[in-house]
Amino acid sequence: MSIRHRLTGDDGAGGMLALTVAAGALAFSLVALTFFSVIPAKARTNAAADSAAIAAAESASIQSAAQSCDIAAEAATLNRATLLGCEVVGDEATVTVGREIFTTMFSVTARAAVPRSTPQTSTANGAIPTEDLIVISYPGVRSDPPVYLRADAAAALVQMLDAYHSQTGNYLPVDEGYRDLAAQQRVFDEYGWPRAAIPGTSNHGQAVAVDFVNPPVVRGAPPHAWLTDNAAQFGFEPLTDPDEPWHWDYTR
Ligand SMILES: [Zn+2]
Repeated sequence: MSIRHRLTGDDGAGGMLALTVAAGALAFSLVALTFFSVIPAKARTNAAADSAAIAAAESASIQSAAQSCDIAAEAATLNRATLLGCEVVGDEATVTVGREIFTTMFSVTARAAVPRSTPQTSTANGAIPTEDLIVISYPGVRSDPPVYLRADAAAALVQMLDAYHSQTGNYLPVDEGYRDLAAQQRVFDEYGWPRAAIPGTSNHGQAVAVDFVNPPVVRGAPPHAWLTDNAAQFGFEPLTDPDEPWHWDYTR
């Protein structure tokens, strides 16, 4: 008896069994297909909603609300979804997108807003806007270009200059205050470290350092001796490392 013959002989029952198995497998496949397709499809709908909302929000500050919603619709289409709703208020967009999965429409609502950086005063070394600083207007102080200092350092310096003038009848000559990064780079290129601070680290970049003209503000000279005796009460300390008798830092 050949194998073929045996199979032929079993034909009836074997056929029924095969049909049942096939039907079961088909049913299982459909369930599995549905299960494994719906989940990613829903995830894609979420993603479509997110991208549409983000697209609308990103364009909200430069486009009208209607134009932002057109962009959201395009983003939804690119993700094979349909824009069902869109509302843009300020920089915030709320969108609803739909996607048909096995004849059922799934819809997802997403909201996005783009954070806007609020203009902030920079206090980064060498990057302080001069409009945030004070111009020192006083006899003996360089006026062109002007000397800028942080407001508290400026007030303290003027008090100190006043005190010097009332006690000596002379004026302390000042020729440097705030120095931006580019200016500090020029000084650094000219003098090198340690005579010049590395750009981004100088107290001149914080608008709290003052350079008096030297001479006369050199060690042993009367103006320097006066500063040594009096500067501390106004909040100024000498720079000693490296030794720069003309350079004083406001340290309060
Ligand atoms: Zn200096």
